[in-house]
Amino acid sequence: MTTETLEFQAEARQLLELMVHSIYSNKDIFLRELVSNASDALDKRRLAGLQDEGLSADDLHIEIEADKEARTLTVRDNGIGMSRDDVVELIGTIARSGTAEMLRRLKESKESAELIGQFGVGFYSVFMVADKVTLLTRKAGEETGVRWESDGDGTYTIEPVQSVEEAPEGTSVCVHLRPTDEDDALYDYADEGKIREIVKRYSDFISFPVLMAGDTLNSMKALWARPRSEVSEEEYREFYRHVSHDWTDPLDVIQMRAEGTFEYEALLFLPSRAPHDLYQRDARHGLQLYVKRVFILDDSRELLPDHLRFVKGVVDAADLSLNISREILQQDRHIQLIRRRLAKKVLASVKDLMTKDAEKYRTFWGEFGPVVKEGLLDGSEDHKAILDIASFASTAGEEPTTLADYVARMPEGQDKIYFMTGDSRAQVENSPHMEAFKAKGYEVLLLTDRVDEIWVEAVREHAGTEFKAITRGAVDLPSDEEPSVEEAGAYAAVLAWLNETLDDVKDVRLTTRLTNSPACLVSDTDGLTPALEKMYKAMGQELPPVKRILELNPQHPLVGAVKTAYDQRAGDPELAETAELLYGTALLAEGGDLADPARFAALLADRLSKTL
Ligand code: ADP
Repeated sequence: MTTETLEFQAEARQLLELMVHSIYSNKDIFLRELVSNASDALDKRRLAGLQDEGLSADDLHIEIEADKEARTLTVRDNGIGMSRDDVVELIGTIARSGTAEMLRRLKESKESAELIGQFGVGFYSVFMVADKVTLLTRKAGEETGVRWESDGDGTYTIEPVQSVEEAPEGTSVCVHLRPTDEDDALYDYADEGKIREIVKRYSDFISFPVLMAGDTLNSMKALWARPRSEVSEEEYREFYRHVSHDWTDPLDVIQMRAEGTFEYEALLFLPSRAPHDLYQRDARHGLQLYVKRVFILDDSRELLPDHLRFVKGVVDAADLSLNISREILQQDRHIQLIRRRLAKKVLASVKDLMTKDAEKYRTFWGEFGPVVKEGLLDGSEDHKAILDIASFASTAGEEPTTLADYVARMPEGQDKIYFMTGDSRAQVENSPHMEAFKAKGYEVLLLTDRVDEIWVEAVREHAGTEFKAITRGAVDLPSDEEPSVEEAGAYAAVLAWLNETLDDVKDVRLTTRLTNSPACLVSDTDGLTPALEKMYKAMGQELPPVKRILELNPQHPLVGAVKTAYDQRAGDPELAETAELLYGTALLAEGGDLADPARFAALLADRLSKTL
C-alpha cells in the first residue's frame, strides 16, 4: 500500500506547535473535543440515513476504549466518516477565516492560553496529551478507508485501508498518551475513572450513547427540552461550548418554548466575547436547527436576523420536514415567524440584563453593540427595541449612557438628542462644533463606531425625541440669539468675498455655535458628512465633490481682524492666503485632512515669521 507523507498547512503547523507545547492549562478538554466531533459525525450520519434509503443509521454511538498497558485512549464513532480528501482538507488544514490573525495575536500576547480558548482549536487539542495520534476512518458507503497518523511535528502520513475490520464506517481516533505529569495538569487519560468524570462533566447532553466497558456514561438528555430549574449552570456552559466551538463561558442563557400551531423550543446563548470573525462574510454564524430532536442543519443564519448573528444555540422545531434544505428555510413562513420571535426575545433578554446585571450588559454592548446597531439600518421592526438597549458615549461622563437616561437629563428648553459622529472620542469631544453645547450645558452623544455614520441617516427619532447632528445645518439651540442684524450687515461684504475666494466651500456665514474657535465647517441639512463621503468613496462610488459651509465666529479676534483688513485693503493677495489659513484651521480642528498640507505649512510658517 502506498503511504504518503504530507505537510500540514503552515497555519495548522503553527497551531499544532502551540498544542504540543500545551500552553492551555485545562488539558481534559481534548476529550470533549473528540466526543463533540464524534457526535457531529453521528448527527450527519443520522441525517444522511433519513435522506438516503440505502444508508442505515441504526445503533449510532460513541465508544471509548482505554488501554492502560499500551497507554492509548481510543474514541470511536460509527458516524459519517471521512474520505481521503476530507481528511487532508479537514484535518490537514485550518479553513477557518482569521486563523492567521489569531496566530499573530497569540505570538504578541502573553495571555495566549486565553486567546486559544476564544478560538477553539478542536481536533488539534489532542496533541496537548498525545505524542502520536492514529485516525482510522471510512466514509459511509465507500470502498476504501483511510489511515492517518501524526506525531504533531508538522507532517502526517496517510494511506488507504481496505480491511473493514481495521477501518469500519465511521471514525476512530487512537491517542497515544504522553507520560502522565500531574504538575502540568496532564492526568492519566487511560484511567477509566478519569474518563468517566470528563465525559460526565463535558459531554453529558450528547444525544448519542457514549459507551465504555459496556456502560453508558452520559444521560443523553436534550438540554433545551428540560426545565431551566433542573439544569445546572455548568451543564449549560458545556452545552454552549459544544454548539459554539467557543471555549469561554456564555454571558447569558435564553430559553423559550412556543406552543400551538407551530411548536418549537429554543436554547440560545449570548457569548461573552465577540468572535474574531464577527465581520467576515464566510464566518460560521447562526444556530443549529433540530426537528424533533434530530439534528438537521448547522450555522442556520435564517433563524436570526443578521444583526444578531453572534447568538449561538439550538432551535428544535416540531413541524418541519426532516428534508428541509437551506433554500426552503429561507422562504419558509414559519421560519420567518420564528426568526422574528427569537429576535424579540434576545433583545428583551438584553434589556433584562440592563436592569439585573449592569456589568454583563456593559460587556455585551461593548462586544456586540456595533453589530446590533446594524439592525438600525434596514428599517427592521427591531428599531425601537435596539435603541432601547443601546448605549452611547456622551459628554456627560466617562460611562456610556442610554437614550432614556440622556432624555431624562435634558435641561429645560432642550428638545432634541444631539450627537456628533467621528473617528474617536477625543476628536469628537474637542471639535469646535461642541463649543456652544458645552457653553449651554447640553449633553452631546459621541458616536464613534463606523456603523453610527450610517444609522443616524436612517433613524430620525426615538420615543418622540428627534435626533440632531451638531455638525449639520444651522445651530438651532432654542433661545439662541442669531448674529445681530447690524453685525450681519457689517460682515456681508467680507463673507461674500470669502465665499468667492474659497473654492472648497459652499457658503460662508456667521454663527453663534462657536465660543473659542474662529471657524468651523458644517454640512448642509441634507448634505453628505465627510465620513460618509469617505465611506462611499471607499466602496468605489463616484461622487461629485461635497462642499460644506464655513461658519465664522464674529466674537473671535481673528475673524474681526479679517473683516477690518478686508474693509481697508480689499485687493491684498495676502488676504486670500489668510482666508485659506482660516479654512484650513477649521478643517484641522475637526480632524479633517488638508488637500495640500505642504502649502498650508508654508503659509503658516510665513505668517509666524512675520509676527516674531
Ligand atoms: P471543528 O469541529 O471546530 O470544525 P475540528 O478541528 O475539531 O474543528 O475538526 C475539523 C473537521 O474534521 C470537522 O469539522 C469535521 O468535518 C471533521 N471531523 C473531525 N472529527 C471527525 C469525526 N470523528 N468524524 C467525521 N469527521 C470529523
